[in-house]
Amino acid sequence: MEIPKESTTNNLQPTTMKKLIVFNWKSNPHNAASAIKLAQLVEKSIPKKNAPEVVIAPPFIFLEDVGKIIKKAELGSQDAFWGDVGSYTGEISWHQEKHLKVKYVIVGHSERRKYLGETDEMINKKIKAALKAGLKVILCVGENLSIRRRGKKTVEDFIKSQLSKDLKGLSIVKGQMSNVIIAYEPIWAIGAGHSDTPQDAVEMIKFIKKTLNSIFYILNSRVLYGGSIDGKNIKNFIQYKEIDGFLVGNASLKQKEFDRIIKA
Ligand code: PEP
Repeated sequence: MEIPKESTTNNLQPTTMKKLIVFNWKSNPHNAASAIKLAQLVEKSIPKKNAPEVVIAPPFIFLEDVGKIIKKAELGSQDAFWGDVGSYTGEISWHQEKHLKVKYVIVGHSERRKYLGETDEMINKKIKAALKAGLKVILCVGENLSIRRRGKKTVEDFIKSQLSKDLKGLSIVKGQMSNVIIAYEPIWAIGAGHSDTPQDAVEMIKFIKKTLNSIFYILNSRVLYGGSIDGKNIKNFIQYKEIDGFLVGNASLKQKEFDRIIKA
């Protein structure tokens, strides 16, 4: 492919889009009434002016209820199968999710890679199917502690390998990459109560942007940070223009925390 003249890593610019905040509720809360209540509180926290883009990703079973009440936030899902409707016991198809007005899909979360054995090949199939269905993908990448301990170069090689495998065969020409957002989530910081340092997170985010530029010639990729973001530490991260938003787990279930994150 011919590389557009302006598409060099020297020209990488932070995106001018609004910050994107994705609330990943994981397998919470217990019932639909609590899910509705939580979604209402999130809606209330989103200011009318200068609000970030907020996505709520509840468990599948609450997508419909949450989708019906949110107006300012968008609906996200935590996964979906690559196949269409059919003989896939226990799975949910993109078409079913689209029908429920899902706009964003989280793919490749480290908890699914770990507990369900999701491979990069499976993740690649899911991404392709989601994009074909017109959904925006939030692809999670990130290293575990043992990789981190081996130093920066090892981490970079690992992340580059995840990106290359997970995004294999996607085409910038067809505009597919404009609907892919990356969430850099160092696994050791997820649910740990202590985040990465903003400086190290920014270094990795810059590396991811540079890598996407060199593989796909994209100048303005959106890259989020995820890993123990809360109402307190958000102020240390928000000042970095390289971070295009946040993927938030535990703090997305606590009103005081998500209110501060949205308002930050
Ligand atoms: C996550 O699950 O993606 C996540 C970032 O969780 P937490 O904010 O709890 O670390």
